[in-house]
Amino acid sequence: MAEPFYVTTPIYYPSDRLHIGHALTTTMADTIARYKRMRGYDVWFLTGSDEHGQKIQRKAAEAGISPQEYVDRIVATFQELWRQLGISYDDFLRTTEERHKKAVQTLFRRLEAQGDIYKSTYHGWYCTPCETFWTETRLAQGCCPDCGRPVEKVAEEGYFFRLGRYADQWLRFVEENPDFIQPPSRRNEMISFVRGGLEDLCISRTTFDWGIPVPGDPKHVIYVWFDALTNYISALGWGTSEQEKFEKYWPAVTHLVGKDIVRFHTIIWPIMLMAAGVAPPRRVFGHGWLMVSGGKMSKSKGNVVDPMVLIEKYGADAIRYFLLRELPYGADGYYTEEALVERYNRDLANDLGNLFSRSLAMVERYAGGVVPVPGPATERETELAAVVRHSIARTEQELERLDFAGALAAIWEVVDRANKYVDEAAPWNLAREKQTERLHTVLYHLVETLRVLTVLLAPFMPGLPPRVWPQLGLEAAPQLQEWESIHRWGSFPPGAKVKRKAPLFPRQEGVAAPVAEAATPASTVPQITPRKEVTLTEMATVSIDDFARLDLRVAEVEAAERVAGTDRLLKLALRVGEEERTVVAGIAQVYQPEELVGRQVVLLANLQPAKLRGITSQGMILAASDGEAISLLTVDRPIASGSKIT
Ligand SMILES: [Zn+2]
Repeated sequence: MAEPFYVTTPIYYPSDRLHIGHALTTTMADTIARYKRMRGYDVWFLTGSDEHGQKIQRKAAEAGISPQEYVDRIVATFQELWRQLGISYDDFLRTTEERHKKAVQTLFRRLEAQGDIYKSTYHGWYCTPCETFWTETRLAQGCCPDCGRPVEKVAEEGYFFRLGRYADQWLRFVEENPDFIQPPSRRNEMISFVRGGLEDLCISRTTFDWGIPVPGDPKHVIYVWFDALTNYISALGWGTSEQEKFEKYWPAVTHLVGKDIVRFHTIIWPIMLMAAGVAPPRRVFGHGWLMVSGGKMSKSKGNVVDPMVLIEKYGADAIRYFLLRELPYGADGYYTEEALVERYNRDLANDLGNLFSRSLAMVERYAGGVVPVPGPATERETELAAVVRHSIARTEQELERLDFAGALAAIWEVVDRANKYVDEAAPWNLAREKQTERLHTVLYHLVETLRVLTVLLAPFMPGLPPRVWPQLGLEAAPQLQEWESIHRWGSFPPGAKVKRKAPLFPRQEGVAAPVAEAATPASTVPQITPRKEVTLTEMATVSIDDFARLDLRVAEVEAAERVAGTDRLLKLALRVGEEERTVVAGIAQVYQPEELVGRQVVLLANLQPAKLRGITSQGMILAASDGEAISLLTVDRPIASGSKIT
């Protein structure tokens, strides 16, 4: 029977729409869930929403609607975000569901019956944004030590959970289970917190009523954290007559949480379970925060980044890649849109995207699009295979310890090595010299590398494989898409027909418009134009006179070179009849300078000159673009340069 693997995200608080920090945790959980499924585990992936509490009640009152209506609306946006981000959860638990309320009350009753819950009066402080009780001594300069915001003085009758009674049992458990709290730095922090003394925890409130009532004493509602943490077992049917899921998946669980809520998950939650006679979770992983300019994201700072907007602009795979790549293991990462675009262009468009497109282009050009039978491998192929083998092993290790950035770095060793392999093996020379067997060997090893990369990247970028398999001609070969298959290097079937399509990750900076744009300072943030289908009727009509104002000419490329300091601009020397022109064009990602020399292109000759990187561009060459691919306009048959286009 398959080994169970249960992974959870925190259940998010629907007081507002989610930001990119929530997308981070959920993407991590999704990636490990997908990976474990590929490795044959019986996976259960839970996410959800934590819908009770004072803050929700206040927000709903401000909006003039009921709390239930309020959370319904916001939870719908959560689910839409997860759909767009490709999150493959198995269950979405809402704490307002009956199944959850029952489990929370069952747990409460059980702890109360055995004397672990008692009634008393609470005197202390409460941070409403964090929904956290604080004693005087834990406050930081009179404020919440977690978020730094002011706290409210609270004196109310409440139910208390005897947390302190379990401190020793907790310390023993953590000692016997060194992998329970990860990464280890957080473990030490939690141990010293508990050694500092655990106070009994107030687990009910009376100042509002948007919560689960205390059984038998409905003027109290159960404290949101006691309520929320229970979701991890209520979703599995714990405490009911149908608890097969609980029996199967608990405690084989990995709780993924941000570092700010590690304490709740590693101290309060396991003690609640210990008291109820349930095994504590196997692993709690506290990842760092994604910082934005101005520090941690928060609505009051106005620096909240909406993941929906980014997904629409760059695609879900690119956002997932950035999140997983940018956060070093256990530490904080930084988000800026510039950093996102830079990563996208460097890692995805250049390194990965180019490897795919040039490899497939060479199979088409030199082997008629059919994957050839390889000849004998040389040292180069042996070395490539060794890099691949090493990378697979490292990816597996890093994923086991939830180091997503480390795993992607391991995968990029293959990408880098394969790009170098192309440059060194120089298939174009082999083709020219008619070294067909050697050429076939190189092409074969390239497509096999692409296959391995696609499998390795599947958990991280689930949108990638469905786009790649048809291009590799492997859409009907599921066994070659499985994780286990990449341990068998050389499985690619010769004879498969490749079909190159549009680039997997089109460049984000200006490739779509090879126009002589107005001079921009080098530090300007690249403006990203989202792909947009323009229907013909959207444009205003022009008269023939308007058209006649454009001086369009046939020009011949006499020389071409890259513009230093940019990776997208080419400087072209054009002959236009008797005249010579210099034009800067943003096509370097798509055209090599050498291949343009001697070509006839179409020049808009009377465009106002513009300075680009210190070069005066005298006109613009025309190109077609569908937003991804780009193709220069040329003339159907050779004609004198300088000829007018009418
Ligand atoms: Zn706080």
